[in-house]
Amino acid sequence: MTISKIKGKVYLVGAGPGEPGLITVRGAELLKLADCVICDKLANPLLLNYVRPTAEIINAPKRTGKSSVTQEEINKLLIEKSSKRQIVVRLKGGDPCIFGRGGEEAAILAQAGIDFEIVPGITAGIAAAEYAGIMLTDRNYSSEVIFVTGREADGKKNSGIDWQLFAKFSGTIVFYMAMGSLKFIVGELIKNGMAGDMPAAVIADATLSGQKILLTSLKKICEECIKKKVKPPAIIIVGKAAKGNSKLNWFTKKPLFGKNIVVTRDQKGNAEFAAKIIQRGGNAIELATIKIKPSTQTNRFLKIPAELAEFDWVIFTSANGVSIFFDALRKLGKDGRIFGSAKIAAIGSETAAKLSEFGIRADFVPSVFTSEDLGKELTKYTNLKENKVLLLRSELASDELNKLLTQAGAEVQSAALYEIVTQKNKCGRLKERISEGIIDWLTFASPSSVKGFFEQISSDIKKASNVKIASIGPITSQELKKFGIKVDVEANEHTIDGLLAAIEGAYK
Ligand code: SAH
Repeated sequence: MTISKIKGKVYLVGAGPGEPGLITVRGAELLKLADCVICDKLANPLLLNYVRPTAEIINAPKRTGKSSVTQEEINKLLIEKSSKRQIVVRLKGGDPCIFGRGGEEAAILAQAGIDFEIVPGITAGIAAAEYAGIMLTDRNYSSEVIFVTGREADGKKNSGIDWQLFAKFSGTIVFYMAMGSLKFIVGELIKNGMAGDMPAAVIADATLSGQKILLTSLKKICEECIKKKVKPPAIIIVGKAAKGNSKLNWFTKKPLFGKNIVVTRDQKGNAEFAAKIIQRGGNAIELATIKIKPSTQTNRFLKIPAELAEFDWVIFTSANGVSIFFDALRKLGKDGRIFGSAKIAAIGSETAAKLSEFGIRADFVPSVFTSEDLGKELTKYTNLKENKVLLLRSELASDELNKLLTQAGAEVQSAALYEIVTQKNKCGRLKERISEGIIDWLTFASPSSVKGFFEQISSDIKKASNVKIASIGPITSQELKKFGIKVDVEANEHTIDGLLAAIEGAYK
C-alpha cells in the first residue's frame, strides 16, 4: 500500500474487540505506515507491535472522570499531528464509530479541512456474543438486534431510550457500557413489562484469555455479577438468544484458555510466540530479555559472498541467522545464487522454514534440533572428509558442532552473523504478578533468554511462587539449572510449537 505524504491524513481505525488478530488487514497495514498512533485504552497494546520503532505512540485513555487526556485534547492532537504531514492512526477499541466518538473526531477533522478515512472494526457486542456461543440473530427466536449504550441510561434528562419499547422487544438487546447502570436498566425493563426470567448474559473481557461468561436471568443478573466479581469492560445481552448454548461455546475450550504465559525472546521473536499463544486461547505477556545485533558489517562477514561457492556445506544454526544473512545479502545487491553448488544444512524446522522464505530448500535437517545432533547426524548422512564447511551462527555459539565436524575430517570455518545482548526492562509489575500467582508459565527459548531474564529478576522468585517453567530443549534447561531453576516441562521438538505442545501436555 502506498500513501501520499504530501499532506497529512488521519485514519480512524477500529482495533477490534481485544484479541489482536481481530483487527482488519487494512488496519494492520496502516499501523505499519503510521508516523503517529493515538491509542485508545480498549485497543490491545500488542497491536503496537505493528508500529515502526520510530513512530510516536500517544496513549489517550479517555476514562470518564479520571481522564488523563480529554476528548478536546485528543481532537487538538489529531489536527496538530496531521498538519505536520504525518500519517496519523487514531486507534479505537472495537469499531471507531459504535459508541466510540469516531463520528465527533471525523467531524472535527472535516471542519479543519484535514483528510481522513474510517476503517471499520469488529465491534465488542458482536465479538462478545460469538466468542460466548451466543447467536444474536436466529431464525427461530431473534429477527432483530438493538445496540444500546448504558451510559445514556442512568439519569440523563431527555434520554433517547424508550424503555417501554425495549421491554416488549422480541429480538436481542446488546448493552455497552452498562455495568455501572445495570440495576437501573434491569429495573426499567421489568417495570415496563419484561419478564424477570428473560435470559440475560454478561461477557467480560470478551475475546481475551481472561474472558468471563455469565448466563443468568434478568432478575438475577445484578447479584450474580457481584457474586462472580464480573468487572468491566463487559457486554450485556438480554433476550432469548442470551440463553446461550454450551455446545457452541468454543472459545473457552481452547487448550491454553485462561493461562498467563510470559515470553522472553527478543522483541520480534516474542511477537511471533505471543501470536501462537493467543491462537491457543492464552494470554501472552511479552518481556524482551535479549536484543539481536547483526554483525554483518565485520570484515569477516563481508568476505563471505565472494568465498561462498567454494564451500561444500553451509550450515545455519538459527532462523534469526537466516534472516540477518539474507538481509545483509540484499544490501550487498546479491541473492541466493551465491551459494553456487554448496549444500545447505539447517539446525531445525524453523530455520529450514525461514530459508524457504528466501527460496532455499535445506538439503539437510537433523531429526533432533540441537547443534550436537546436527553434528552427529550430518556426519552419518554424508562423508565430510576434506569437505569445506562454513558455519553461520551467533557469536556466542559453543564449539561443540565445530568439533564434531572437524573430527569427521571436515575443514571448518565459522562466521558470526549476530551478537546477542541483554535488554534491560522495568520488571516491577511482572515480579508482582509472579509473586501474586497470576502468572502460570515462564517460557525460555534459548540460554541467552535465561541469562537475560535472571540477570533482571532474581531466581528466588520461582521459590516464592507457583509459576511453572517451560524450556525449549536440553541446552536451555542446562542454563536454567545453573540458576537453580527446576524445569517443569521441556519440549520434545525444540521449536516454539514444540514448547507450546509441552505446556499443553501439562494440562492433559
Ligand atoms: N467502539 C467500541 C465500544 C466502545 S464503548 C466497540 O465498537 O466495541 C466501551 C464499551 O464497549 C465497554 O464499556 C464495553 O461495554 C464494551 N467493550 C469493549 N471491549 C470489550 C471487551 N473486550 N469485552 C466486553 N466488552 C467490551
